[in-house]
Amino acid sequence: LPPVPPHPLEVIMVGAGYVGLVSGAAMARLGATVTVVESNPGRLTALRSGTIPLHEPGLGELVASERAANRLHFAANLAETALSAPAGTFKAPRLVFLAVGTPENTKPGQQGAADLSAVQAALDELASLLPPNPSLTILATKSTVPVGTGAALARRFQALRPDAPLVVTSNPEFLAEGQAVHNFLNPDRILVGLPGGDTPPSYVQAARQAYSQLYAPLVIKGVPLLFTKRESAELAKYAANAFLAVKIAFMGEIADFCEHSGASVDEVAHAMGLDPRIGPEFLEAGPGYGGSCLPKDVPALVASAAQSNITLTVPQAAHLANKARKAGLGGRMARVMHLAGKRIALLGLAFKAGTDDVRASPALDLATDLLSQGASLALHDPEALANARAAMQALDLPPQQSERLHWAPTLEAALTGADAAVLLAAWPCYKDIAPDHMAQLMKGRHLFDFRRAWQPQPLRAAGFTLHAVGMAEET
Ligand code: NAD
Repeated sequence: LPPVPPHPLEVIMVGAGYVGLVSGAAMARLGATVTVVESNPGRLTALRSGTIPLHEPGLGELVASERAANRLHFAANLAETALSAPAGTFKAPRLVFLAVGTPENTKPGQQGAADLSAVQAALDELASLLPPNPSLTILATKSTVPVGTGAALARRFQALRPDAPLVVTSNPEFLAEGQAVHNFLNPDRILVGLPGGDTPPSYVQAARQAYSQLYAPLVIKGVPLLFTKRESAELAKYAANAFLAVKIAFMGEIADFCEHSGASVDEVAHAMGLDPRIGPEFLEAGPGYGGSCLPKDVPALVASAAQSNITLTVPQAAHLANKARKAGLGGRMARVMHLAGKRIALLGLAFKAGTDDVRASPALDLATDLLSQGASLALHDPEALANARAAMQALDLPPQQSERLHWAPTLEAALTGADAAVLLAAWPCYKDIAPDHMAQLMKGRHLFDFRRAWQPQPLRAAGFTLHAVGMAEET
């Protein structure tokens, strides 16, 4: 995308996580003046010193170039932004995006639902600092929030600040970690939900204009900009994620059947994917989905529908199948080899290759299971080692288990002396390693490929027994 001159659109992005930092920096590239607000002091200090606190290809260059162009700024809270300036001094449209986390609620009775406390806190902060009688603020939920949240936020704000005009819109984000910058600047579609009801039409029109201006460089390239009802945008995000979850969970079960029927899941998936009604994406067999979206969004969708007495059995089945799949990885291994006292190399701790995000990663489920079965673990990931370490520490394992955890700084260190190796995220370094080199380093000959990233023939020629998801042992 060629750099564009700044235009008078002022964007505040609340939250500098995978979504907020990428979206904020990319909106600066689109020409807006953007302030990203981050409440985590460590993350903010890193950003201000030019360090990117998460792994995302191209993000470092994007942030650096937009800061150098004076279009991207960082603030510790909303009070540090132009929003708190006296009424009348702020001439540009105020477009405030909420990109804070919406994790799974863990409170008794609310398990599975989305925890909206960070979204509500950010709204309350906004309400508390806008000057008296300000001009219109356009609020956008970029966070994934249940249908009806926009309406609830509008009511909450109105009760707090009846003098302040606000229009609450929905602009859900569809980027995927590991390719977030590319996804944001080359999206399949941009979805904007606008309120109806008693919202003044002039507010809605102002929001429509601001979005059209913000995303104009992408629309010119042919990206569809869809304006829908606010509820449709909120629900479309969940429906899309749940559909992807169903696809993955479905192929997991087909892969299991392949292992017992002589079929190869690669061939089955290829044949299925050539049908345009199905499509080739998301048909890979794997260890189950993880990450910060699908595992929490599917139960949140089910929980929000249940409030309207609607039972979503298909997404619920995918959710349960996925949980069982991740919990069953250790059992699959135990059927093949005795695990107590063995040293197992776990390769790929992020929930997929290309990211350092370990939230709900299958590797963490497997690691805790293998430790409880008495195995020692050598854990490796090219980008996610620090996050995995923090996540395992947070589990507060008993000392007799945590002393069997070894954090391998290199792939070679992980494999040295291992009785078995398990591939959980298909990083190139795992795909590229020479089988003979692996055989020299390892003690045992069992390999478990939960991503179908390893080529069977060269590994078998090097003396390994390969147990790959979706493939019968001898095929
Ligand atoms: P994240 O946890 O990585 O980042 C959230 C950030 O917001 C954190 O850095 C946190 O410190 C900050 N924060 C929280 N409250 C704040 C406040 N009041 N003021 C300033 N900063 C605050 O989360 P994420 O992965 O970027 O996801 C954010 C939202 O986007 C979620 O709703 C998620 O479901 C959705 N989403 C995520 C992805 C993804 O791939 N990660 C993709 C699409 C949508």
